[in-house]
Amino acid sequence: MEDDVELQRFLEAEGLTIKTILPKRRCLFATRDFIPGEVIMREEPYVCIPTSSNPLCQQCFKSDGALSKCASCNIVWYCGVECQRLDWKLHKLECRAISRLEKKWQELVTPEIRLLVKLFIRRKLQRDKVIPTTPIDNFNLVEAMIDHQYKMEMKKLVAYAMKAEIVTRMLQQPDLDLDKAVNNFCKVSCNANAIVDIAMEPLGIGLYPVMSIINHSCLPNAILVFEGKLAVLRALVPVEKGDEVLISYIDLGRTTRHRQHDLNAKYHFTCTCPHCCKFAEINDQILDALRCKRGKCDGFFVNKDRFYSHDQKLECNKCGLVKTLEAERRAKGKIDPLCDKGKSEFFSGSILLHFVL
Ligand SMILES: [Zn+2]
Ligand SMILES: [Zn+2]
Ligand SMILES: [Zn+2]
Ligand SMILES: [Zn+2]
Repeated sequence: MEDDVELQRFLEAEGLTIKTILPKRRCLFATRDFIPGEVIMREEPYVCIPTSSNPLCQQCFKSDGALSKCASCNIVWYCGVECQRLDWKLHKLECRAISRLEKKWQELVTPEIRLLVKLFIRRKLQRDKVIPTTPIDNFNLVEAMIDHQYKMEMKKLVAYAMKAEIVTRMLQQPDLDLDKAVNNFCKVSCNANAIVDIAMEPLGIGLYPVMSIINHSCLPNAILVFEGKLAVLRALVPVEKGDEVLISYIDLGRTTRHRQHDLNAKYHFTCTCPHCCKFAEINDQILDALRCKRGKCDGFFVNKDRFYSHDQKLECNKCGLVKTLEAERRAKGKIDPLCDKGKSEFFSGSILLHFVL
C-alpha cells in the first residue's frame, strides 16, 4: 500500500523499520544504534482527550494560567485564543456534535465516546482535505491498528454497542454505521495510551497509531514518556541495529501470573518474553522479597535515591513504610543471592532491579 511505503520512508529516516512477523503482526525494528536515554521517535496523537480532574487546555494540555471554557458546549477548556484557533476546525464540528445530544444523554458521554467522536471528525476533515495528512498522521494508520474484536467478551461488545449508538447520534455521518463504531471502540480499548505527566498523574487519553506498532515485553528496551500530549519514545538500554524496539504495556512490579492476567485482560495475548518464561521463577522471588506485605499493602520497597547502597533506607512506594536497617539487611540477604544468580544467567536481572529499586 502507498501509505505503508510513505510510513516506511519516514521511519527509515529515523533509523527504524516495520517488519511483519507472525503471530505478532507488525514489529518496530531499529536500523541504527540508540544509546540509553536517546529519543527514538516522537509522535503527536491522532486524537486525544484530557481526562484529569483539573481543567486542561484541549489543544496543548497545559493547566497553568487562566483557562477559559468554550462558551457554546461548556465542556472544552483552552489556555488562550491561539490554542482555541488551532483547534477550531475540529472543535467546531465537535461542539456541534455535543450540542446535538439532549441534556440527559450528555451525562453519558465518557472520554472514550469523546475520543471516538473526535476520531471520526478528524477522518472526515482529512478526507475533505480541510486538514492535511502526513505519513504519520492519517486515518489509514488507525485502520491498520489491531482490534481483537473476535476475542472480546459479549458483555464488553454490548457496552461498546451502546456507546457506539451515542457516537452515531452525535455525528450523523452517513458512512458511519454502528458496526464501524463498535470496531473502533475495540481499537481504542487495546491501543489508546494513558497520557501522564512527569509524576505519572493521568492527564488524558490519546491514540498514537505509530507508537501502537511497538510490541510489549516485560524486559523492555524502550519507554514511552509524554511531554504534554506529545509521546516520546526513549531507549532504556542500548538498542542495537537489528533489535526489535519493545516497551512495557503494564505495571512491571507484579508477578508473572499477575502480569499475564493484565496482558490477557486488556491486550488479549500471552507474553513469551524471557522474563515470563525462562526467568519467571527467579524474578518472582526477587519481587516477593521486595514486597511490602504490611496489612493489605501490596507496594514495593523502593530506594528513593535510585541506586542501591548499604546505608540507604527503603520506603514502600504505596504506604510509605520505611524499613529499618535491620529489616533491610534481612531483605537484602534474601535478594542478593537471587540477583547474583539472575545476573550470571541473564544480564537483564539488573534491569528488573533498576525498576524495582
Ligand atoms: Zn493551550
Ligand atoms: Zn465547544
Ligand atoms: Zn513477559
Ligand atoms: Zn506498604
